[in-house]
Amino acid sequence: MRTDGLAIYETWDLRASVVPPRSQLFNLSPIGLGTPMVECLTSYFSRLAHAHCLSPGALTQYELMPHGAGARHMFSRKTRARSYTAGINGKDNVAANFVSVLGNLTSRGDLKYLTMIPWKSLLPSKFLMRNVAAWCPDCLLGWEQSGKPAYVPLLWTLEVVKFCPHHRRALRLTCPHCKRPQEVLGQRSRVGFCARCRRSLASDSGKDDSERYWALQQETPEWEIWVANQVVRLIKAGLYYPPLLTREQLSEVIRVATDVIGSSEFARILGVSATAVYEWQIHGVQPTLMLYLRLARVLNVPLADLLTGRAIPANIYSLCLIGLPHWHNVWAPRHSTFNNKNAARQMKAALRGVPPPSPMAFAKRHGYTHGILCVNTFLTDVERSSSDIESITRLALNNGEPQESRSFDESPFDCTTTGRN
Ligand SMILES: [Zn+2]
Ligand SMILES: [Zn+2]
Repeated sequence: MRTDGLAIYETWDLRASVVPPRSQLFNLSPIGLGTPMVECLTSYFSRLAHAHCLSPGALTQYELMPHGAGARHMFSRKTRARSYTAGINGKDNVAANFVSVLGNLTSRGDLKYLTMIPWKSLLPSKFLMRNVAAWCPDCLLGWEQSGKPAYVPLLWTLEVVKFCPHHRRALRLTCPHCKRPQEVLGQRSRVGFCARCRRSLASDSGKDDSERYWALQQETPEWEIWVANQVVRLIKAGLYYPPLLTREQLSEVIRVATDVIGSSEFARILGVSATAVYEWQIHGVQPTLMLYLRLARVLNVPLADLLTGRAIPANIYSLCLIGLPHWHNVWAPRHSTFNNKNAARQMKAALRGVPPPSPMAFAKRHGYTHGILCVNTFLTDVERSSSDIESITRLALNNGEPQESRSFDESPFDCTTTGRN
């Protein structure tokens, strides 16, 4: 036997290797984490379900609900269900619950950055999250052409953001193929594709009836692009958990501003009542994000600086009033009683819009609640009192389209409640 050609083999380490802890679900990385274009939580959840070859509905039913997150009817197309799924990207308990349960299942501790939780104590829920999906077809197309995965940035889920800051164009709210709006998270939704016709949303063909689904009316493109850029910086600031604007700081900023121009004129410029300004200053009532934006513009400070307490009141000598759009009052008083005449007047005004708003958007703008404006009650009231209002109502319900095409609003007047501000 020859021994001069024997090979020397490596020795094996037979000690058991250290295996890091395993997560129950894939430890999928959120897209854009650490950037202002960070993915929203519903987009992450939808991609996570797809990675497991499951629908979002199945993943919710079999993994989230047993751990206390999600709800049985969250994928219903009714307004309350849409508010629930929109709240997953928000700042309240629904978002916190999803972040906690999904974080445990994926072993990720950074999912709160996919929501508005960093701004929880500062921003009221009203007009914060959009109940329907919005997207920029140019962004989706760009990612598709460069081989990047489609996703939904947190930026697009906020009600105040109506433009893409990169392409300086309006976000779409209806499918370019079947013209239907999309849920923020559907039972079988897939990011970048229509939940109804299954075709790609990376197309801008056909008219977009987005106006029907905005809860806040669209202002000039210049203003909307400014808003989008301000919110981009706000999301970036939120990644570092900054100190937030305190009540005392807000009160001081408003005191200085009203000293410059007077409280009534200041309120008129912001498009709110003098009472609202008084309540911000004295009673610690928080303005909505839209009103913080108006405030930042008038004070000529970045929104992120204002909301992190870095706007120095002593530096406010004058107000920036150049190029301000004429703002509508976004304060929608909540109606505790139903007034046929007022409703008729509001509907007539709404029907003059081109296109007219959806019943959902109409209800949000005017502060009607589900109980008051529920279609059956409403029609019964109208039929008893006024055939004129009935015809207006039927016009509002149909919006000039056949009834069967209005598949998004199952109950045409299934409305959300609105708070005060
Ligand atoms: Zn874009
Ligand atoms: Zn479609």
